[in-house]
Amino acid sequence: MAPKIDEKVEPIFQEVLARNPGETEFHQAVREVLESLGPVLVKHPEFCHHKIIERICEPERQIIFRVPWQDDQGNVQINRGFRVEFNSALGPYKGGLRFHPSVYLGIIKFLGFEQIFKNALTGLPIGGGKGGSDFDPKGRSDDEIMRFCQSFMTELYRHLGEYTDVPAGDIGVGGREIGYMFGQYKRITNRYESGVLTGKGLSWGGSLVRPEATGYGATFFVDEMLKVRGDSFGGKTCTVSGSGNVAIYTIEKIHQLGGKVIACSDSNGYIVHERGIDLQLVQQLKEIERRRIKDYLNYHKDARFVEGGNIWDVPCQVAMPSATQNEINGKDAAKLVKNGCIAVGEGANMPTTPEGVKVFLESGIAYGPGKAANAGGVATSALEMQQNASRDSWTFEYTEQRLQQIMQNIHQLCYETAEEYGTPGNYVNGANIAGFIKVAHAMVALGLI
Ligand code: GLU
Repeated sequence: MAPKIDEKVEPIFQEVLARNPGETEFHQAVREVLESLGPVLVKHPEFCHHKIIERICEPERQIIFRVPWQDDQGNVQINRGFRVEFNSALGPYKGGLRFHPSVYLGIIKFLGFEQIFKNALTGLPIGGGKGGSDFDPKGRSDDEIMRFCQSFMTELYRHLGEYTDVPAGDIGVGGREIGYMFGQYKRITNRYESGVLTGKGLSWGGSLVRPEATGYGATFFVDEMLKVRGDSFGGKTCTVSGSGNVAIYTIEKIHQLGGKVIACSDSNGYIVHERGIDLQLVQQLKEIERRRIKDYLNYHKDARFVEGGNIWDVPCQVAMPSATQNEINGKDAAKLVKNGCIAVGEGANMPTTPEGVKVFLESGIAYGPGKAANAGGVATSALEMQQNASRDSWTFEYTEQRLQQIMQNIHQLCYETAEEYGTPGNYVNGANIAGFIKVAHAMVALGLI
Protein backbone atom coordinates (compact mmCIF):
# COMPACT_ATOMS: atom_id res chain seq x y z
CA MET A 1 0.00 0.00 0.00
CA ALA A 2 1.45 3.34 -1.02
CA PRO A 3 1.29 6.12 1.60
CA LYS A 4 -1.79 8.27 1.29
CA ILE A 5 -1.70 11.60 -0.42
CA ASP A 6 -3.22 14.44 1.62
CA GLU A 7 -6.87 15.10 0.69
CA LYS A 8 -6.07 18.62 -0.55
CA VAL A 9 -3.38 17.21 -2.83
CA GLU A 10 -5.17 14.09 -4.11
CA PRO A 11 -7.33 15.93 -6.72
CA ILE A 12 -4.19 17.58 -8.07
CA PHE A 13 -2.61 14.16 -8.51
CA GLN A 14 -5.73 12.83 -10.24
CA GLU A 15 -5.55 15.76 -12.62
CA VAL A 16 -1.90 14.98 -13.38
CA LEU A 17 -2.89 11.37 -14.20
CA ALA A 18 -5.70 12.52 -16.49
CA ARG A 19 -3.61 15.15 -18.28
CA ASN A 20 -0.57 12.91 -18.85
CA PRO A 21 -1.95 9.48 -19.79
CA GLY A 22 0.45 6.55 -20.08
CA GLU A 23 3.44 8.37 -18.59
CA THR A 24 3.92 5.95 -15.71
CA GLU A 25 7.40 7.07 -14.62
CA PHE A 26 6.22 10.68 -14.51
CA HIS A 27 3.20 9.66 -12.41
CA GLN A 28 5.51 7.80 -10.04
CA ALA A 29 7.86 10.77 -9.61
CA VAL A 30 4.98 13.21 -9.05
CA ARG A 31 3.24 10.91 -6.58
CA GLU A 32 6.39 10.54 -4.51
CA VAL A 33 6.77 14.30 -4.12
CA LEU A 34 3.06 14.95 -3.55
CA GLU A 35 2.95 12.36 -0.75
CA SER A 36 5.30 14.59 1.24
CA LEU A 37 3.48 17.89 0.72
CA GLY A 38 0.31 17.70 2.83
CA PRO A 39 1.91 19.20 5.99
CA VAL A 40 3.60 21.92 3.90
CA LEU A 41 0.22 23.29 2.83
CA VAL A 42 -0.86 23.49 6.46
CA LYS A 43 2.15 25.69 7.26
CA HIS A 44 1.99 27.60 3.98
CA PRO A 45 -1.64 28.07 2.88
CA GLU A 46 -0.41 30.72 0.43
CA PHE A 47 0.97 27.90 -1.75
CA CYS A 48 -2.62 26.63 -2.19
CA HIS A 49 -3.88 30.07 -3.05
CA HIS A 50 -1.19 30.47 -5.72
CA LYS A 51 -1.81 26.93 -7.04
CA ILE A 52 1.91 26.21 -6.75
CA ILE A 53 1.57 22.40 -6.84
CA GLU A 54 -0.65 22.49 -9.92
CA ARG A 55 1.76 24.86 -11.67
CA ILE A 56 4.88 22.91 -10.69
CA CYS A 57 3.46 19.69 -12.19
CA GLU A 58 2.96 21.34 -15.60
CA PRO A 59 6.20 21.90 -17.57
CA GLU A 60 6.78 25.48 -18.69
CA ARG A 61 7.63 24.23 -22.18
CA GLN A 62 7.99 20.85 -23.93
CA ILE A 63 9.85 20.43 -27.19
CA ILE A 64 9.62 17.27 -29.31
CA PHE A 65 11.48 17.06 -32.60
CA ARG A 66 12.64 14.80 -35.43
CA VAL A 67 16.30 13.81 -35.53
CA PRO A 68 17.23 12.47 -38.98
CA TRP A 69 20.77 11.13 -39.53
CA GLN A 70 22.66 8.75 -41.76
CA ASP A 71 24.32 5.55 -40.52
CA ASP A 72 27.63 4.16 -41.79
CA GLN A 73 25.86 2.11 -44.44
CA GLY A 74 24.24 5.22 -45.86
CA ASN A 75 20.77 4.37 -44.51
CA VAL A 76 18.59 7.21 -43.28
CA GLN A 77 17.65 6.82 -39.62
CA ILE A 78 15.04 8.78 -37.71
CA ASN A 79 14.89 9.27 -33.98
CA ARG A 80 12.83 11.46 -31.71
CA GLY A 81 14.39 14.24 -29.64
CA PHE A 82 12.98 15.82 -26.47
CA ARG A 83 13.66 18.76 -24.20
CA VAL A 84 11.29 19.42 -21.33
CA GLU A 85 11.90 22.86 -19.83
CA PHE A 86 10.16 22.23 -16.55
CA ASN A 87 10.75 25.11 -14.18
CA SER A 88 12.89 28.25 -14.33
CA ALA A 89 11.93 29.95 -11.05
CA LEU A 90 15.43 29.56 -9.62
CA GLY A 91 17.56 29.89 -12.75
CA PRO A 92 17.99 28.70 -16.33
CA TYR A 93 16.65 25.21 -17.03
CA LYS A 94 19.39 22.75 -16.10
CA GLY A 95 19.55 19.02 -16.51
CA GLY A 96 21.06 16.30 -18.61
CA LEU A 97 20.32 14.63 -21.94
CA ARG A 98 19.66 10.89 -22.01
CA PHE A 99 20.24 8.79 -25.14
CA HIS A 100 18.65 5.39 -24.61
CA PRO A 101 16.09 3.32 -26.56
CA SER A 102 13.69 3.40 -23.57
CA VAL A 103 13.38 7.20 -23.77
CA TYR A 104 9.90 8.65 -24.38
CA LEU A 105 8.12 11.70 -23.04
CA GLY A 106 7.20 10.03 -19.72
CA ILE A 107 10.85 9.29 -18.90
CA ILE A 108 12.02 12.79 -19.76
CA LYS A 109 9.20 14.33 -17.70
CA PHE A 110 9.96 12.20 -14.64
CA LEU A 111 13.61 13.17 -14.87
CA GLY A 112 12.80 16.84 -15.46
CA PHE A 113 10.37 16.90 -12.54
CA GLU A 114 12.93 15.37 -10.14
CA GLN A 115 15.54 17.78 -11.45
CA ILE A 116 13.52 20.81 -10.23
CA PHE A 117 13.78 19.74 -6.59
CA LYS A 118 17.28 18.30 -6.84
CA ASN A 119 18.60 21.52 -8.32
CA ALA A 120 16.81 23.57 -5.67
CA LEU A 121 18.49 21.49 -2.94
CA THR A 122 21.96 22.37 -4.25
CA GLY A 123 21.36 26.00 -3.21
CA LEU A 124 22.70 27.11 -6.61
CA PRO A 125 20.78 29.26 -9.15
CA ILE A 126 19.52 26.55 -11.51
CA GLY A 127 16.03 25.65 -12.68
CA GLY A 128 14.98 22.17 -13.79
CA GLY A 129 14.85 20.54 -17.22
CA LYS A 130 15.76 17.34 -19.01
CA GLY A 131 16.06 16.05 -22.53
CA GLY A 132 17.25 13.24 -24.70
CA SER A 133 16.36 10.83 -27.44
CA ASP A 134 15.34 7.23 -28.07
CA PHE A 135 18.61 6.88 -30.01
CA ASP A 136 20.59 3.78 -28.97
CA PRO A 137 24.32 4.56 -28.95
CA LYS A 138 25.24 0.91 -28.24
CA GLY A 139 27.35 -0.51 -31.08
CA ARG A 140 27.37 2.76 -33.03
CA SER A 141 30.63 4.01 -34.54
CA ASP A 142 32.20 7.28 -33.51
CA ASP A 143 31.17 8.82 -36.84
CA GLU A 144 27.56 7.76 -36.33
CA ILE A 145 27.54 9.25 -32.83
CA MET A 146 28.89 12.51 -34.24
CA ARG A 147 26.32 12.70 -37.02
CA PHE A 148 23.52 11.97 -34.59
CA CYS A 149 24.72 14.61 -32.10
CA GLN A 150 25.05 17.21 -34.86
CA SER A 151 21.54 16.56 -36.11
CA PHE A 152 20.14 16.62 -32.57
CA MET A 153 21.78 19.98 -31.87
CA THR A 154 20.72 21.44 -35.23
CA GLU A 155 17.19 21.57 -33.82
CA LEU A 156 17.90 21.97 -30.12
CA TYR A 157 20.32 24.94 -30.35
CA ARG A 158 17.50 27.48 -30.85
CA HIS A 159 16.07 26.61 -27.45
CA LEU A 160 19.36 26.85 -25.53
CA GLY A 161 21.55 29.57 -24.09
CA GLU A 162 23.69 30.15 -21.02
CA TYR A 163 20.85 32.18 -19.45
CA THR A 164 18.05 30.05 -20.92
CA ASP A 165 18.66 26.31 -20.89
CA VAL A 166 21.91 24.46 -20.15
CA PRO A 167 21.97 20.70 -20.90
CA ALA A 168 24.61 18.20 -19.80
CA GLY A 169 25.06 14.43 -19.86
CA ASP A 170 23.02 11.56 -18.48
CA ILE A 171 22.79 7.89 -19.54
CA GLY A 172 24.38 7.50 -22.99
CA VAL A 173 25.74 11.06 -23.05
CA GLY A 174 29.28 11.75 -21.82
CA GLY A 175 32.22 13.95 -22.76
CA ARG A 176 32.36 12.69 -26.34
CA GLU A 177 28.71 13.51 -27.08
CA ILE A 178 28.89 16.88 -25.28
CA GLY A 179 31.90 17.70 -27.47
CA TYR A 180 30.06 17.00 -30.73
CA MET A 181 27.02 18.95 -29.55
CA PHE A 182 29.07 21.90 -28.34
CA GLY A 183 30.92 21.96 -31.67
CA GLN A 184 27.66 22.06 -33.59
CA TYR A 185 26.19 24.76 -31.32
CA LYS A 186 29.30 26.88 -31.84
CA ARG A 187 29.19 26.37 -35.58
CA ILE A 188 25.54 27.35 -35.95
CA THR A 189 25.57 30.32 -33.57
CA ASN A 190 29.12 31.52 -34.24
CA ARG A 191 29.50 31.98 -30.49
CA TYR A 192 31.98 30.34 -28.13
CA GLU A 193 29.35 30.25 -25.41
CA SER A 194 30.99 27.94 -22.86
CA GLY A 195 28.15 28.19 -20.35
CA VAL A 196 25.57 26.65 -22.72
CA LEU A 197 26.54 23.04 -21.98
CA THR A 198 28.25 21.41 -19.01
CA GLY A 199 30.33 18.26 -18.79
CA LYS A 200 32.73 19.73 -21.34
CA GLY A 201 36.30 18.49 -21.79
CA LEU A 202 38.96 20.15 -19.66
CA SER A 203 40.79 21.86 -22.49
CA TRP A 204 37.64 23.52 -23.87
CA GLY A 205 35.85 24.92 -20.84
CA GLY A 206 35.11 21.90 -18.66
CA SER A 207 35.56 21.68 -14.91
CA LEU A 208 37.80 19.38 -12.94
CA VAL A 209 35.77 16.98 -10.78
CA ARG A 210 32.68 17.14 -13.07
CA PRO A 211 33.20 13.55 -14.33
CA GLU A 212 33.63 12.32 -10.75
CA ALA A 213 30.97 14.53 -9.19
CA THR A 214 27.81 12.40 -9.16
CA GLY A 215 29.57 9.33 -7.74
CA TYR A 216 31.72 11.29 -5.29
CA GLY A 217 28.70 13.32 -4.20
CA ALA A 218 26.51 10.27 -3.59
CA THR A 219 29.28 8.73 -1.50
CA PHE A 220 29.72 11.95 0.51
CA PHE A 221 25.98 11.97 1.13
CA VAL A 222 26.01 8.40 2.48
CA ASP A 223 29.07 9.28 4.56
CA GLU A 224 27.04 12.08 6.18
CA MET A 225 24.09 9.74 6.88
CA LEU A 226 26.49 7.26 8.47
CA LYS A 227 28.14 10.00 10.56
CA VAL A 228 24.76 10.94 12.07
CA ARG A 229 24.54 7.33 13.24
CA GLY A 230 28.08 7.41 14.65
CA ASP A 231 29.29 5.18 11.83
CA SER A 232 31.49 5.42 8.72
CA PHE A 233 32.45 3.62 5.48
CA GLY A 234 35.50 2.09 7.23
CA GLY A 235 35.54 -1.68 6.62
CA LYS A 236 32.05 -1.76 5.07
CA THR A 237 31.18 -4.19 2.28
CA CYS A 238 29.39 -2.33 -0.53
CA THR A 239 27.66 -3.06 -3.81
CA VAL A 240 27.32 -0.53 -6.62
CA SER A 241 25.00 -1.30 -9.53
CA GLY A 242 25.99 -0.14 -13.00
CA SER A 243 29.48 0.43 -14.34
CA GLY A 244 29.11 3.79 -16.05
CA ASN A 245 30.30 7.18 -14.96
CA VAL A 246 28.29 7.32 -11.71
CA ALA A 247 29.21 3.79 -10.61
CA ILE A 248 32.91 4.16 -11.39
CA TYR A 249 33.43 7.26 -9.27
CA THR A 250 31.22 5.92 -6.49
CA ILE A 251 33.52 2.90 -6.29
CA GLU A 252 36.58 5.15 -6.29
CA LYS A 253 35.33 7.35 -3.43
CA ILE A 254 34.11 4.40 -1.34
CA HIS A 255 37.57 2.85 -1.62
CA GLN A 256 39.16 6.17 -0.62
CA LEU A 257 36.91 6.31 2.45
CA GLY A 258 37.91 2.80 3.54
CA GLY A 259 34.94 0.75 2.29
CA LYS A 260 35.21 -2.24 -0.05
CA VAL A 261 33.04 -2.54 -3.16
CA ILE A 262 32.62 -6.21 -4.07
CA ALA A 263 30.08 -6.07 -6.92
CA CYS A 264 29.07 -3.96 -9.91
CA SER A 265 27.02 -4.66 -13.04
CA ASP A 266 25.85 -3.79 -16.52
CA SER A 267 22.64 -4.68 -18.36
CA ASN A 268 23.90 -8.25 -19.00
CA GLY A 269 24.60 -9.23 -15.37
CA TYR A 270 26.86 -8.56 -12.40
CA ILE A 271 30.36 -9.42 -11.25
CA VAL A 272 31.37 -10.25 -7.71
CA HIS A 273 34.97 -9.92 -6.63
CA GLU A 274 35.34 -10.54 -2.90
CA ARG A 275 38.84 -9.03 -2.79
CA GLY A 276 37.35 -5.74 -3.95
CA ILE A 277 36.54 -4.48 -7.46
CA ASP A 278 39.60 -3.62 -9.57
CA LEU A 279 38.49 -0.13 -10.53
CA GLN A 280 41.25 0.55 -13.05
CA LEU A 281 40.15 -2.50 -14.99
CA VAL A 282 36.48 -1.47 -14.95
CA GLN A 283 37.49 1.96 -16.22
CA GLN A 284 39.61 0.46 -18.97
CA LEU A 285 36.82 -1.90 -20.06
CA LYS A 286 33.88 0.48 -19.84
CA GLU A 287 35.21 4.00 -20.34
CA ILE A 288 38.00 3.40 -22.84
CA GLU A 289 37.23 0.16 -24.69
CA ARG A 290 33.41 0.34 -24.29
CA ARG A 291 33.23 -3.42 -23.61
CA ARG A 292 30.95 -5.53 -21.39
CA ILE A 293 31.57 -6.04 -17.66
CA LYS A 294 31.68 -9.81 -18.24
CA ASP A 295 35.17 -9.37 -19.74
CA TYR A 296 36.42 -8.57 -16.21
CA LEU A 297 36.73 -12.36 -15.75
CA ASN A 298 39.44 -12.53 -18.43
CA TYR A 299 41.69 -10.64 -16.04
CA HIS A 300 40.59 -11.92 -12.61
CA LYS A 301 40.03 -15.65 -12.31
CA ASP A 302 38.84 -15.35 -8.70
CA ALA A 303 35.88 -13.12 -9.68
CA ARG A 304 32.54 -14.47 -10.85
CA PHE A 305 29.94 -13.23 -13.33
CA VAL A 306 26.24 -13.89 -12.90
CA GLU A 307 24.56 -13.59 -16.27
CA GLY A 308 21.16 -11.91 -16.10
CA GLY A 309 21.49 -11.96 -12.30
CA ASN A 310 20.21 -9.50 -9.76
CA ILE A 311 23.02 -7.63 -8.00
CA TRP A 312 20.81 -7.03 -4.93
CA ASP A 313 21.10 -10.74 -4.12
CA VAL A 314 24.68 -10.01 -3.02
CA PRO A 315 24.76 -9.33 0.75
CA CYS A 316 26.22 -5.90 1.57
CA GLN A 317 26.18 -3.24 4.26
CA VAL A 318 25.90 -0.29 1.88
CA ALA A 319 24.08 -0.39 -1.46
CA MET A 320 24.53 2.33 -4.07
CA PRO A 321 22.10 1.89 -7.00
CA SER A 322 23.81 3.75 -9.84
CA ALA A 323 22.31 2.28 -13.01
CA THR A 324 18.74 3.37 -13.85
CA GLN A 325 15.14 3.91 -12.69
CA ASN A 326 13.21 1.20 -10.85
CA GLU A 327 16.16 -1.17 -10.50
CA ILE A 328 15.26 -2.03 -6.85
CA ASN A 329 11.76 -3.39 -6.27
CA GLY A 330 10.03 -4.26 -2.98
CA LYS A 331 11.49 -7.76 -2.88
CA ASP A 332 15.02 -6.55 -3.61
CA ALA A 333 14.72 -3.94 -0.86
CA ALA A 334 13.49 -6.55 1.63
CA LYS A 335 16.37 -8.84 0.69
CA LEU A 336 18.93 -6.08 1.12
CA VAL A 337 17.61 -5.22 4.58
CA LYS A 338 17.44 -8.87 5.61
CA ASN A 339 21.03 -9.39 4.45
CA GLY A 340 22.26 -6.62 6.76
CA CYS A 341 22.23 -3.52 4.57
CA ILE A 342 22.26 -0.40 6.79
CA ALA A 343 22.51 2.36 4.18
CA VAL A 344 21.35 3.02 0.63
CA GLY A 345 22.50 6.00 -1.45
CA GLU A 346 20.89 6.53 -4.83
CA GLY A 347 23.37 7.56 -7.52
CA ALA A 348 20.75 6.90 -10.20
CA ASN A 349 17.49 8.80 -10.62
CA MET A 350 14.49 7.08 -8.98
CA PRO A 351 16.18 3.64 -8.86
CA THR A 352 13.80 2.35 -6.18
CA THR A 353 10.13 1.51 -6.84
CA PRO A 354 7.48 2.88 -4.43
CA GLU A 355 7.27 -0.57 -2.77
CA GLY A 356 11.05 -0.57 -2.31
CA VAL A 357 11.03 2.93 -0.83
CA LYS A 358 8.39 1.84 1.66
CA VAL A 359 10.53 -1.12 2.76
CA PHE A 360 13.58 1.09 3.27
CA LEU A 361 11.67 3.74 5.21
CA GLU A 362 9.91 1.23 7.47
CA SER A 363 13.12 -0.67 8.18
CA GLY A 364 14.74 2.47 9.61
CA ILE A 365 17.95 2.07 7.59
CA ALA A 366 19.68 5.23 6.31
CA TYR A 367 18.03 5.82 2.93
CA GLY A 368 19.25 8.70 0.74
CA PRO A 369 16.88 9.30 -2.22
CA GLY A 370 18.33 10.29 -5.58
CA LYS A 371 17.20 13.87 -5.67
CA ALA A 372 19.35 14.54 -2.60
CA ALA A 373 22.09 11.90 -2.89
CA ASN A 374 22.93 12.34 -6.58
CA ALA A 375 22.72 16.14 -6.67
CA GLY A 376 26.52 16.40 -6.74
CA GLY A 377 26.60 15.99 -10.51
CA VAL A 378 24.36 18.89 -11.36
CA ALA A 379 25.86 20.96 -8.51
CA THR A 380 29.29 20.60 -10.08
CA SER A 381 27.74 21.51 -13.43
CA ALA A 382 26.70 24.78 -11.77
CA LEU A 383 30.29 25.19 -10.56
CA GLU A 384 31.40 24.66 -14.18
CA MET A 385 29.01 27.46 -15.19
CA GLN A 386 30.55 29.71 -12.52
CA GLN A 387 34.03 29.04 -13.85
CA ASN A 388 32.86 29.69 -17.42
CA ALA A 389 31.20 32.97 -16.42
CA SER A 390 34.39 34.22 -14.76
CA ARG A 391 36.66 32.70 -17.45
CA ASP A 392 38.51 30.90 -14.70
CA SER A 393 39.32 27.30 -13.82
CA TRP A 394 39.65 25.97 -10.33
CA THR A 395 41.95 23.26 -8.94
CA PHE A 396 40.76 19.72 -8.34
CA GLU A 397 41.17 20.13 -4.55
CA TYR A 398 39.17 23.36 -4.39
CA THR A 399 36.37 22.04 -6.64
CA GLU A 400 36.09 18.80 -4.69
CA GLN A 401 35.97 20.76 -1.44
CA ARG A 402 33.10 22.85 -2.82
CA LEU A 403 31.29 19.65 -3.88
CA GLN A 404 31.74 18.08 -0.46
CA GLN A 405 30.48 21.22 1.27
CA ILE A 406 27.40 21.27 -1.00
CA MET A 407 26.64 17.62 -0.21
CA GLN A 408 27.01 18.28 3.51
CA ASN A 409 24.63 21.24 3.22
CA ILE A 410 22.07 19.16 1.30
CA HIS A 411 22.28 16.42 3.89
CA GLN A 412 21.83 18.91 6.74
CA LEU A 413 18.89 20.62 5.03
CA CYS A 414 17.09 17.31 4.38
CA TYR A 415 17.84 16.06 7.87
CA GLU A 416 16.56 19.22 9.59
CA THR A 417 13.50 19.52 7.34
CA ALA A 418 12.51 15.90 8.07
CA GLU A 419 12.73 16.68 11.81
CA GLU A 420 10.81 19.95 11.49
CA TYR A 421 7.97 18.13 9.72
CA GLY A 422 7.76 15.38 12.32
CA THR A 423 9.43 12.54 10.40
CA PRO A 424 12.99 12.40 11.77
CA GLY A 425 15.42 10.38 9.66
CA ASN A 426 13.10 10.38 6.62
CA TYR A 427 15.30 11.90 3.91
CA VAL A 428 12.56 11.38 1.32
CA ASN A 429 10.30 13.85 3.10
CA GLY A 430 13.25 16.09 3.91
CA ALA A 431 14.36 16.33 0.28
CA ASN A 432 10.87 16.70 -1.21
CA ILE A 433 9.75 19.35 1.28
CA ALA A 434 12.96 21.40 1.36
CA GLY A 435 13.27 21.38 -2.44
CA PHE A 436 9.61 22.23 -2.95
CA ILE A 437 9.55 25.11 -0.45
CA LYS A 438 12.53 26.79 -2.07
CA VAL A 439 10.95 26.69 -5.54
CA ALA A 440 7.49 27.59 -4.21
CA HIS A 441 8.73 30.78 -2.51
CA ALA A 442 10.45 31.85 -5.73
CA MET A 443 7.31 31.15 -7.78
CA VAL A 444 5.17 33.22 -5.44
CA ALA A 445 7.69 36.07 -5.58
CA LEU A 446 7.85 36.06 -9.40
CA GLY A 447 4.08 36.36 -9.77
CA LEU A 448 1.75 34.48 -12.08
CA ILE A 449 4.02 33.64 -15.01
N1 GLU B 1 22.11 14.06 -15.50
C1 GLU B 1 22.58 14.52 -14.21
C2 GLU B 1 21.45 14.48 -13.22
O1 GLU B 1 20.62 13.59 -13.27
C3 GLU B 1 23.35 15.82 -14.28
C4 GLU B 1 22.65 16.96 -14.93
C5 GLU B 1 23.52 18.20 -15.15
O2 GLU B 1 24.70 18.19 -14.82
O3 GLU B 1 22.96 19.20 -15.63
O4 GLU B 1 21.35 15.27 -12.31
